[in-house]
Amino acid sequence: MPTEVITVHEATKSYRTPAGDFPALAGVDLSVSPGEFVAVTGRSGSGKSTLLNLLAGIDRPTSGQVRVAGTEVHALPEPRLSSWRGRTVGMVFQFFQLLPTLTVAENVMLPMDFCATYPSRDRRPRALELLGRVGIAEQADKLPSALSGGQQQRAAIARALANDPPVLLADEPTGNLDSATAEVILDLFAAQAADGTAIVMVTHERDLSRWAHRQISLADGKITTEVTR
Ligand code: ADP
Ligand code: MG
Repeated sequence: MPTEVITVHEATKSYRTPAGDFPALAGVDLSVSPGEFVAVTGRSGSGKSTLLNLLAGIDRPTSGQVRVAGTEVHALPEPRLSSWRGRTVGMVFQFFQLLPTLTVAENVMLPMDFCATYPSRDRRPRALELLGRVGIAEQADKLPSALSGGQQQRAAIARALANDPPVLLADEPTGNLDSATAEVILDLFAAQAADGTAIVMVTHERDLSRWAHRQISLADGKITTEVTR
């Protein structure tokens, strides 16, 4: 049995607001194994994005532990966080967040450039290979604005995989896509999980049983239901 790649232990997150401290996460425990595809559902404001931000080290828990790929993320010093994240966590967002002035291939090369994970001469061939894996190799030298939404999300997935991270985090990656395109994107995530990547995906999609191994639901910053396929 492989050990868990994500372990969250009693994590809380409170935001300081003018009206007082607001508990966005109120004690969350979560373990995810390599190759496991976990879907996170819950109403708007239930803490889903906050949970992903803790996993990515974008935000720190108020209390509790967040361990990802052997690193205590909550304890990582700020200067080391961005390079740790670039090598360990691939992120996919609802609105793709590709850089508009770079070509698709250049967008995919960016994490490799930032972390120097591959020699310079290998970066473009690797980007093209990743774009082939998500089915848009022929779009490599176009600007993101020339691509459809589904193609842009494929490019964002290729970028998220650039440094071969053990963990992929996605925040409503199909929220801006029609249902047929959404299924293609979910198929890509499922294939990546089958390859050993742990995936935590926040989603509003209804029937995820075809793709996700486990579905957890958040309400008021707590896990309320957990369904395993
Ligand atoms: P979800 O992604 O499930 O919609 P979030 O994790 O974004 O929810 O937010 C959870 C709760 O925390 C919400 O009530 C939100 O308003 C609040 N919140 C999120 N970020 C901040 C912040 N930076 N400052 C204050 N409150 C915040
Ligand atoms: Mg959110």
